[in-house]
Amino acid sequence: MQTLKKGNIFIVSAASGTGKTTLVSRLLAKHPDIRVSVSHTTRAPREGETDGIHYHFVDRESFEQLIRDDAFLEHADVFGNYYGTSFAGIESLRAQGFDVILEIDVQGAEQVRRALPEACSIFILPPSFEILAGRLKGRGTDSADVIQRRLNEAAKEIAQAAHFDYVVVNEDLDTAEADLSAIVRAGRLKQAAQRQFVEKLLENS
Ligand code: ADP
Ligand code: 5GP
Repeated sequence: MQTLKKGNIFIVSAASGTGKTTLVSRLLAKHPDIRVSVSHTTRAPREGETDGIHYHFVDRESFEQLIRDDAFLEHADVFGNYYGTSFAGIESLRAQGFDVILEIDVQGAEQVRRALPEACSIFILPPSFEILAGRLKGRGTDSADVIQRRLNEAAKEIAQAAHFDYVVVNEDLDTAEADLSAIVRAGRLKQAAQRQFVEKLLENS
């Protein structure tokens, strides 16, 4: 297993359609010092998605080779496709001085929590299942049977909320965004995240 330097990693998970992508893009617009890690996936690009920006789109064979090469911090099968976070992607963002958000599913979140216990994990909830269904339909990116599959999975994913450090309810977008910003601020002030500063201070004492 490869290792990563210490720094701020924020895991953001939610059942599909909750509003995770919407909230994270709002957060990024306010915090130029945070970037989202670009995952690898075997799913086909959706309209408007660009390789290398939204995902690294690869075939199953290449993905399985990357697994064998120990290239992933975490990877999971989500709705029949592979998704994974590469060490290289995170390291290149860290090297440029960015804090990193991992927008990943609950299986990936569990793997990252185990590998990097200092990572700050956030679960986003919809206000209700009715509203979640409405958001999935309103987004207009999935067929009726895919939406039904996502709703069936949602309850299982939401049951994992108990394992996360923070839980945000995305009812009003502005409130949820402010909650997320507050968590980022708190995460950066955790003792582990401030350790380098303390060490430097003591070196010069
Ligand atoms: P996810 O990334 O969690 O799958 P999206 O960010 O794509 O979800 O959001 C799903 C849909 O819900 C989008 O059409 C988005 O505009 C809408 N949405 C997100 N958050 C809210 C909110 N707080 N109130 C109303 N609609 C929202
Ligand atoms: P979508 O296909 O809608 O972009 O994403 C489907 C699900 O896969 C979402 O819950 C998303 O967060 C998750 N996902 C995206 N990238 C990764 C990843 O690198 N690892 C894991 N475990 N899940 C991911």
